[in-house]
Amino acid sequence: MKVKMILPALTEATSPLFRPVKYSLFPPLGLATLAAYLDPDDEVALVDEHVEKLSLDDAPELVVIQVYITSAYRSYAIADHYRRRGAFVALGGLHTTSLPDEAAAHADAVFLGPGEDTWPQFLKDFRAGHPASRYESRVRTLVAVPPIRRDLIRRRLYLVPNSIVVSRGCPHVCDFCYKEAFFSGGKSFYTQTVDAALAEIDRLPGRHLYFLDDHLFGNPKFAAALFDGMRGMGRLWQAAGTVNSIMTPGLLEKAAACGLRSLFVGFETISAENLAEQRKFQNLRRGFIVRRREMTQNGNALPENAAVQKGNNTRQSSATPELATVQSNGGMRDYGAVIRRLHDNGVMVNGSFVFGMDNDDESVFERTVEWAVQQGIETATFHILTPYPSTAFYGRMAAANRLAHSRWDLYDTRHCVFKPARMTPQQLEDGYWRAYKDFYRWGAILRGAWSKPELPPRLRHLAYATGWKKFEFLWNLIIRAKQVTRMLPLLETILDEFGRDEPRVNSRGSVLSLAVGE
Ligand code: SF4
Repeated sequence: MKVKMILPALTEATSPLFRPVKYSLFPPLGLATLAAYLDPDDEVALVDEHVEKLSLDDAPELVVIQVYITSAYRSYAIADHYRRRGAFVALGGLHTTSLPDEAAAHADAVFLGPGEDTWPQFLKDFRAGHPASRYESRVRTLVAVPPIRRDLIRRRLYLVPNSIVVSRGCPHVCDFCYKEAFFSGGKSFYTQTVDAALAEIDRLPGRHLYFLDDHLFGNPKFAAALFDGMRGMGRLWQAAGTVNSIMTPGLLEKAAACGLRSLFVGFETISAENLAEQRKFQNLRRGFIVRRREMTQNGNALPENAAVQKGNNTRQSSATPELATVQSNGGMRDYGAVIRRLHDNGVMVNGSFVFGMDNDDESVFERTVEWAVQQGIETATFHILTPYPSTAFYGRMAAANRLAHSRWDLYDTRHCVFKPARMTPQQLEDGYWRAYKDFYRWGAILRGAWSKPELPPRLRHLAYATGWKKFEFLWNLIIRAKQVTRMLPLLETILDEFGRDEPRVNSRGSVLSLAVGE
């Protein structure tokens, strides 16, 4: 059987503001995982439109397309094309799961949720000549998942060919996130066995890994065993984790000891009310949640800076107005302590921030950027709050008549597609771009780097932040020459703090990297 698997380009990846490096990072692991279920004599091609040209003049029998919201129109056009040519077209992914009826108009079969149970069933049905038109995932396990078909991935087209996923979903329930909707109807967080995860890591060549799990630390027992197993493998790796998991005693130390060098952290906002509104409870102190619930039940709103427990989350003792806002905001977990703990363990921070929540006014951009710079956060990712269909946040906005339109191409977290509470859509979009500009100014990068006490972390901060944002023209040349993988040794050198490998000693004199498990 001839099978073609396609990851169509996101609309933002084809815009004039396109940053090729951002879309040349990771290969399409989801499709390569599905390919592993095919028979050895099936002929399969895997095409990622972000890094290669998609030719449309072939005649596969089965076409599989992974659909995201901003690639939906492109995906449907490709699907319609192949259906006209007589192929059977299967659509899956986040957007298909959110709006299966919309997708079904362009497909012979749609897949809702993850595919570990539905995809093998579909292949059986398809080969038997009676495929269904809709498959909904119910059974959630990674136990019998075959090894990913990495042979289908053109490694040299990606900066991070060694991306890996060892779990699915996340234990949390943030309102703006796709997670709850995508995994509805079954478990929404589950992991591989530790042995299977370690075997997968072992199969990957080189040193660098990037875990693409939504929350690698989501199951502390699994994570601790994984990190123990990775010790001595000589890996350098990056991943995503939540504020509360970083504070879990011992876990971060284990991660750092086996090579964690940078972590994507969803801070999202420096307002406790915003966090509560979006049910991002893992970023809040428990006392705040209880008090807020009580006050809401009594019909009262909790003042933004209600100090249930006075926070002490800044690096400096002399509080600027920006830091005072965070400090007095006793509802949030101690973000400053989270960042200090990461830095003390030699882990760089990629902070994620979302603008446009109901407590945000026009001052939010400057306050957030200033706070992030003062904390020495190495890189930041900013987003405009976006109501993805089928999420709880979308439901709220629809009920309040606050959705601006349904042009999915613009649901890219760079455009405002709903009515914000305390500013205009234009102010929100302008502020979003200003935040990027301000955070990545030379002065801000230098200030952030020099917030660190020692030279090696300062240099690493400087190299990492500027490499990511200041040499766009160079990245473009490298990517066009299809040489992006050659930059991997440089990335490894920077992550490794230019070869520094002695144990770290924090300001209190304890040896952090040896604190656990020895
Ligand atoms: S923690 Fe992250 S992945 Fe988990 S539900 Fe919240 S936003 Fe989604």
